[in-house]
Amino acid sequence: MKTSIATVSISGDFQEKLASIAAAGFDGLEIFENDFLAYDGGPREVGRMIRDAGLEITLFQPFRDFEGMPEPHRSRAFDRAERKFDVMQELGTDLMLICSNTSQAALGGIDRAADDLAELGERAARRGLRVGFEALAWGRHVNDHRDAWEIVRRADHASIGLILDSFHTLARKTDVNTIRSIPCDKIFIVQLADAPLIDMDLLYWSRHFRNMPGQGDLDVVGFMRAVAATGYDGVLSLEIFNDQFRGGSPKSISIDGRRSLITLMDEVARAEPEIAIAPPAMPDRISVSGIEFVEFTADEREAGDLAGLFRSLGFARAGRHVSKDVEVWRQGAINLVINTEKEGFAHSAYLMHGTSVCDIGLKVEDATATVSRARALLADPFEQPAGPGELKIPAIRGVGGGVMHFIDDKTELAQVWEIEFEPVTGDPASGGKPQGVGLTRIDHLAQTMNYEEMLTWMLFYTAIFDTAKAPMVDVIDPAGVVRSQAIESPDMALRLTLNGAENRRTLAGRFVAESFGSSVQHIAFQTADILATAEALAGNGFQALEIPANYYGDVEARFGLDPDFVASLKACNILYDRDDRGEFLQLYSRTYGDGFFFEVVERRDGYRGYGAANAPFRIAAQHRLMRPKGMPKG
Ligand code: MG
Ligand code: MG
Repeated sequence: MKTSIATVSISGDFQEKLASIAAAGFDGLEIFENDFLAYDGGPREVGRMIRDAGLEITLFQPFRDFEGMPEPHRSRAFDRAERKFDVMQELGTDLMLICSNTSQAALGGIDRAADDLAELGERAARRGLRVGFEALAWGRHVNDHRDAWEIVRRADHASIGLILDSFHTLARKTDVNTIRSIPCDKIFIVQLADAPLIDMDLLYWSRHFRNMPGQGDLDVVGFMRAVAATGYDGVLSLEIFNDQFRGGSPKSISIDGRRSLITLMDEVARAEPEIAIAPPAMPDRISVSGIEFVEFTADEREAGDLAGLFRSLGFARAGRHVSKDVEVWRQGAINLVINTEKEGFAHSAYLMHGTSVCDIGLKVEDATATVSRARALLADPFEQPAGPGELKIPAIRGVGGGVMHFIDDKTELAQVWEIEFEPVTGDPASGGKPQGVGLTRIDHLAQTMNYEEMLTWMLFYTAIFDTAKAPMVDVIDPAGVVRSQAIESPDMALRLTLNGAENRRTLAGRFVAESFGSSVQHIAFQTADILATAEALAGNGFQALEIPANYYGDVEARFGLDPDFVASLKACNILYDRDDRGEFLQLYSRTYGDGFFFEVVERRDGYRGYGAANAPFRIAAQHRLMRPKGMPKG
């Protein structure tokens, strides 16, 4: 499989685009004509630059509104085509894309279009060039790949073929299985794009909202399975028009693109082993059975504050690292690690972001296989020299630069806590063992990033791990909207929520700005009885985030709750929500540092969400507590 991407898909000037596309490992690129026209250099020079970057030009899209025109438009269209053929020869590419005519002047008529393409094919053949015809979903007379294929079939010319584009086929809900009967040698190139399901004008949807396969809601896998069934093994080219990508980092969007194609072909190979172009080249999506640990980096003073917070949440200091300034705090199946080393990754993360989560440990079936899938999907490896008594724990870099470690039961990794840590019994710092409060496991980790980076994070997690994305919800902060999307494993052993901040004044935006990057902003713990937990927390001196009395009047009326039950929620600052399955009860810590906090949740009867309806009240309460910007801490 050869991979390619249209230059229109990413931001930057032509040279930046080239460098990013080459660095992400693509074989080639499609030149979008405006990118070429805006470049201050002739076609020969552009062609040479592209080849020097190790890329080929897979396709050139220089003009539209060609077929089925009355005179004098028809003659002019052929003249334009000849001039573009000249450019193509200088660029050094042989394939031109013609999309179906959208002009009011187009006459229609399938044989008229076929005749025009046959004549164009004759002219292209004289120069050793080829032309591919693509049905635009909003074409005036041709808007379906079946009609485009019929035109190509009737044109019956070796230099005329079909171009398939997943967006145009899937946006019109055309049956993808109709692709299976097209001969593969007549498919000149396949363009791929996904998109979120939004009910809007097709042209506007296509020009602004396309995204990488796997980032949207279209069945691009089903489309690609049908293409693979034809025997097609040519170029797969991303053609993504997306306003966010045009403003994003060309390097990271290019990597997203390659990652999406590798994931797509892996899925196709698994779904249709008989027709796959190649067998799966990596382990299957990794099933995660839990979050083994969350590690914080801190300096000594802040580590003391953090430990105090852990203690008030009922955690006990359970172990000290055999050779490093690292300790683990434990309650139920939850391990929180504090790292105050003066060198290594955690320390550089501290210098960059301050006290923050720098490392997430996931429990998987096979840690080595996990890294090998992640590497195949272009994740960066992470290694640092193991200290005395330390295990080599397989790891990668996450999207925001943080680290992810993988623990399995196959090897001695399962005994990491016994091998690397000396047990601490009692807790001298608190004059005894603190009281547990009934926290059993991590319910979810909430990561905050700039809104433009959300799709990158989502693709990273869903490509590597056996997870799916939940629908995006809007969280209303008094200072703006924050988009929130959950990534969940089928059995909910792993729940991550991604929160995309659109501005710096929201709690989420401020967190990203002040911690200098994307990171875990809150950790939610599960309890089986939140009222008992709240009582035990109060006994430990834990201070819950205070929720206004008005909230409880509304909750009682909205859900028809028993007034005594509401009074007990109010006494403990517990928020309430309900979905079609069950109930959700949650309480929050006050914010720490630049806006980090903890959450405690009780899920009753399979409640699925995260209490989004309560978020505005939680956020308003947090805003009231945050120190004014620029004021010293404390
Ligand atoms: Mg296209
Ligand atoms: Mg939460």
